[in-house]
Amino acid sequence: MSSSSATYRAPIADMLFVLRQLAGIDELAALPAYEGFDIDTAAAVLDECAKFNEGVVAPLNRTGDLQPPVLTDGQVTSTPGFADAFRSFVDGGWQGVQHPERFGGQGLPGVLAAPCREMLNAANLSLALCPLLTDSAIEALLVAGSPEQQARYIPKLISGEWTGTMNLTEPQAGSDLALVRTKAVPQPDGSYRISGQKIFITWGEHDLAENILHFVLARTPDAPEGVKGISLFAVPKYVGGEGADDGAGGMSGEASGERDGSARRRNDVWCASLEHKLGITASPTCVLLYGEDKGEVGAGAIGWRIGEENRGLEYMFVMMNAARFAVGVQGVAVAERAYQQAVAYAKERVQSRDVAGSPAAVTIIHHPDVRRMLMTMRALIEAGRALACVAAAHADWAEHAADDGERRQHRRLHEFLVPIVKGWLTENANEVTSLAMQVHGGMGYMEETGVAQLYRDARILAIYEGTTAIQANDLVGRKTARDGGAIARQFLQLIGGVEQALAERIEAIGAGAATAADLAAIARHLGAGRQALEEVVDYVLANHDRDARAVYAGSVPYLKLAGIVLGGTQMARAALKAEAMLRAQAGDAQFLAAKITTARFFADHILALAPGLAAGITTGAPGVLELSEAAF
Ligand SMILES: Cc1cc2nc3c(=O)[nH]c(=O)nc-3n(C[C@H](O)[C@H](O)[C@H](O)COP(=O)(O)OP(=O)(O)OC[C@H]3O[C@@H](n4cnc5c(N)ncnc54)[C@H](O)[C@@H]3O)c2cc1C
Repeated sequence: MSSSSATYRAPIADMLFVLRQLAGIDELAALPAYEGFDIDTAAAVLDECAKFNEGVVAPLNRTGDLQPPVLTDGQVTSTPGFADAFRSFVDGGWQGVQHPERFGGQGLPGVLAAPCREMLNAANLSLALCPLLTDSAIEALLVAGSPEQQARYIPKLISGEWTGTMNLTEPQAGSDLALVRTKAVPQPDGSYRISGQKIFITWGEHDLAENILHFVLARTPDAPEGVKGISLFAVPKYVGGEGADDGAGGMSGEASGERDGSARRRNDVWCASLEHKLGITASPTCVLLYGEDKGEVGAGAIGWRIGEENRGLEYMFVMMNAARFAVGVQGVAVAERAYQQAVAYAKERVQSRDVAGSPAAVTIIHHPDVRRMLMTMRALIEAGRALACVAAAHADWAEHAADDGERRQHRRLHEFLVPIVKGWLTENANEVTSLAMQVHGGMGYMEETGVAQLYRDARILAIYEGTTAIQANDLVGRKTARDGGAIARQFLQLIGGVEQALAERIEAIGAGAATAADLAAIARHLGAGRQALEEVVDYVLANHDRDARAVYAGSVPYLKLAGIVLGGTQMARAALKAEAMLRAQAGDAQFLAAKITTARFFADHILALAPGLAAGITTGAPGVLELSEAAF
């Protein structure tokens, strides 16, 4: 079985195409914030990143599956090799790729960080989760941390001396964070004492770094019920010690004495157990207990509030938005790795004669249905990567565009795309890894091919950081209904523009040209997709307040429809660019021709589903809602 799970090759050609032709990295590079950055830098960064992830991180993927972390006396020992790989990751500057230079980061655009993170996740989803959560913690600090907190924590998070975690979930509070019960009691010195139980905390305890900074949602004693009474706290595993860089001083003028050379002490937060999981087994998923009075600080873990009291969920949303986007990228990543394995297997496995006749059995890539599976995988991955990078570019513009209005506008476009990137790309990861297994036949079901691990690993992506339903609720409520469909309609307009460009291009090259038929098919399906999406946006707006249950009965299909149509739009843009480049003989002809074929496949086989989805959403609610509970 030579289709080895250890092999991963970063798809740099596609990444560079997307960055340049679709996500507008050259325009971004012209912003003062990115002075000195250009496409050559981007290419060099991607090359280095590929070398590191292919050579150092990818080979540990299977090791992690076979030798998950172990918990002994409250300490987690991670998979052999992980600590060294993590050290090389942070020493190579990879944690800081998109974070500000003033805190030790590289200050590169987020749009470049996205493919870098894709490589890390494709190489090793379990290990990648640790930096992913640290990235999100840094985002939260940048938005809600005081200047002192930022200066104290961010450099350590970027250097990998510390890592970050996200502590939201409790046994009774999963999707519904209004139910959080963990308590935070203010202390005279400005700190808080935290007590309660958090579950499912990724990398909540480990031996990769010398300290862990937990970002914890908790309630102060007089906090109102529900989401309006939740605050955000930073709780280090160790407090005090040299420099006392745990946030104890300078938060609001009060000093707690932690800064004045007090010894490093174990804070009162403990890993009670590790979960046994279906996949990502090398990522320690911890039950964390706060306030067990077992440490060196007395009862209650010492923590410091981030931002204002009772605005914790708002800040956590910043962290979650960053994490949700990153989880979408995880979806593309694991899908890409599964695709590469499936292609390798399809080219070597010999089975059955060609349907059109062949003297002997052929490699299975000759069978039309195997090709259909590979093309589906490829099309979903390329569309997903493009959509994620375009969303990342909006975030960069939202941060650095010169004009205030322009920044706000890009922020809204980015935020509209986040639930789609999270929801659609991760559901696609399930489909793509399942197809990879199907391509492998029975061997895929055997653990030694490694494709079973990818299938198991991918399954969590549509669940954590908000299930697909939670993303879809966000898309319907906050992103579509709340602004009366304003941003949704901007996307519809953008699609109309791409249709127009396709029509003009077909006219320019002549309907008889070889690629004209491809562009025409793409244009036809894109037009039908846009109409379907428009119909659904109108339906959501007309019924959201009148018949919410009916609208939300179609929320996940709406998210899928939006993903298909917006992903299809990026593929259509890609086809247009590729066609022009091919004609100008600018670029790798094989790559460009394949891009057009993949875009055509996407249109014929995936975009074509849009009208059916729209019909289900606008007319199918009764079937979802009618049965009585007893009838189930
Ligand atoms: C491996 C792993 C790692 C994790 N890492 C972390 C972490 O680091 N930090 C952290 O805080 N949490 C973490 N989680 C928790 C994760 O985010 C939650 O499991 C997830 O948000 C879902 O919550 P739940 O499990 O309670 O499911 P529930 O909320 O009970 O959901 C059950 C089902 O009901 C549906 N549902 C619930 N509410 C609605 C609604 N309003 N509309 C429509 N459908 C709804 C859901 O979509 C789902 O299908 C992790 C979980 C796992 C398994």
